[in-house]
Amino acid sequence: MSDEKAARSNFIRQIIDADLASGKHQTVRTRFPPEPNGFLHIGHAKSIVLNFGIAQDYNGSCNLRFDDTNPAKEEDRFVAAIEEDVRWLGYQWHELHFASDYFEQLYDYAVELIEKGKAFVCDLSAEQVREYRGTLTEPGRESPYRNRSVEENLDLFRRMREGEFPDGSRTLRARIDMASPNINLRDPALYRIRHGLIHHQTGDAWCIYPMYDYTHPISDALEGITHSLCTLEFEDHRPLYDWVLDNISIDCHPQQIEFARLNLEYTVMSKRRLTQLVEEGHVSGWDDPRMPTIAGLRRRGYTPAAIREFCDRIGVTKADSTVHMGMLEATIRDDLDPTAPRRMAVLRPLKLVITNYPEGQVETLQGPNHPKDESMGSRELRFTREIWIDREDFREQANKKYKRLVLGGEVRLRNAYVVRADEVVRDEAGEIVEIHATYDPETLGRNPEGRKVRGVIHWVSASEGLPAQVRLYDRLFRVPTPGKEGDFLADLNPDSLQIVDEAVVEPSLAGAEMGERFQFEREGYFCRDIEDAEDDRPVFNQIVSLRDSWGG
Ligand code: ATP
Ligand code: MG
Repeated sequence: MSDEKAARSNFIRQIIDADLASGKHQTVRTRFPPEPNGFLHIGHAKSIVLNFGIAQDYNGSCNLRFDDTNPAKEEDRFVAAIEEDVRWLGYQWHELHFASDYFEQLYDYAVELIEKGKAFVCDLSAEQVREYRGTLTEPGRESPYRNRSVEENLDLFRRMREGEFPDGSRTLRARIDMASPNINLRDPALYRIRHGLIHHQTGDAWCIYPMYDYTHPISDALEGITHSLCTLEFEDHRPLYDWVLDNISIDCHPQQIEFARLNLEYTVMSKRRLTQLVEEGHVSGWDDPRMPTIAGLRRRGYTPAAIREFCDRIGVTKADSTVHMGMLEATIRDDLDPTAPRRMAVLRPLKLVITNYPEGQVETLQGPNHPKDESMGSRELRFTREIWIDREDFREQANKKYKRLVLGGEVRLRNAYVVRADEVVRDEAGEIVEIHATYDPETLGRNPEGRKVRGVIHWVSASEGLPAQVRLYDRLFRVPTPGKEGDFLADLNPDSLQIVDEAVVEPSLAGAEMGERFQFEREGYFCRDIEDAEDDRPVFNQIVSLRDSWGG
């Protein structure tokens, strides 16, 4: 086992190791089985990294299977988005399947169950089924239709398929045990009638649809899956998973293993809620950079490597827990710190006029792309008499702890000269609109003689800089667990998006490609958005803030 693989060891890998050692399996086959009823989110990434990662590490294979048994909510555009996201995360599936490809086989297995007296057509309404089901403390009651003859059941099931009966009038149910302490085994439904829906794969070919708990084990077995990994809420369904496979003639019996789902603070992860955010316009779409979707994280500027690393760091366990947003942010910082080229961008521009610098002169300076990695080269900067600095980097008065520009004090302009602030110019309202300064021409790339300049600030040429729109993001919700007390929408953070329209970025960023990532020095990591602003200015999304801003 490689070190990297050992580092990822978890209880599931231990089961697999044992199965390979005992000869139960010669190879490992997993699958990732999303329902195409929405975009994938970071929780799905955990399952993807687990399933595809295991296949990779054990030289096995992982299928992508669309679990599409509920035509009311499933759409082709979600299929396309899911495929794109899985590929973007860096994985290639072995086989691509749709559970709906198995509808005919599923039907045949249902007939087999009927023939064996293991399934029956039930005429109880949904409400009656609930009444008959019993509770955790009381056994259920048997349906009056439970003892229909095999012939009658076969006839009714065929006629269900042929469309003779309206929605809700009948179901096909497994005949297991109404007294089972596990409610999932109290004659669960296997098929229901759904007329008038167009399935994204099978169109109007079917008006009966198999239930998830019936479809899933058979789909797994048909694909020869060895280990069927799912989240903890399916633990109580495992006896049904096994019952289905034990009672039909199929050779393969995958082992279902449950792991804890990922919960992340300050966001929501159920597709129902994510769909609501999109449909009601609380966000700009599934790929809004504030969304916990893979598409949102991609647009925000996350890298596939950072997401995979995050999934490795959180690990795989049996215990439910909620992960801090800071853990996700740390992985993208760690990923980008060594790789993101440094640039300068002024978000709150304040003009600085260097009175002893020649008017009209444009000087080309070099700025290293990375302070610790010379191999990343450098880019050209334009220095001029008028430059923008950040409003936050100037104060008329401050104590010694303030290492930026103070009236009468000196500061270094990053990659350029040392300047001294001489006076401020105010507008009629008394607001500072301009600073007049002088520069020391001897300080390019070296320290001034006899005095120490501790502060360094960033800047952009006023005439050469590029106007840009910068989008700053905060968490989408104000509370760690949205919806804990009432409507989750009431917990939306009204300030999750801040659009900075007056930003100016260094001219080299004119060549930034859409999706390209940078560190804006002292501000954070940013990514050029996939769309420009309405007035054609480039848009930069904040990926994540810097942990610390560099001082002197
Ligand atoms: P939702 O409740 O958001 O609709 P789901 O579980 O119904 O999610 P599926 O498309 O059925 O979504 O999920 C595909 C796979 O991803 C399943 O195996 C599921 O267990 C896994 N998965 C979904 N959400 C998470 C999560 N938060 N953490 C880990 N795995 C997850
Ligand atoms: Mg589901």
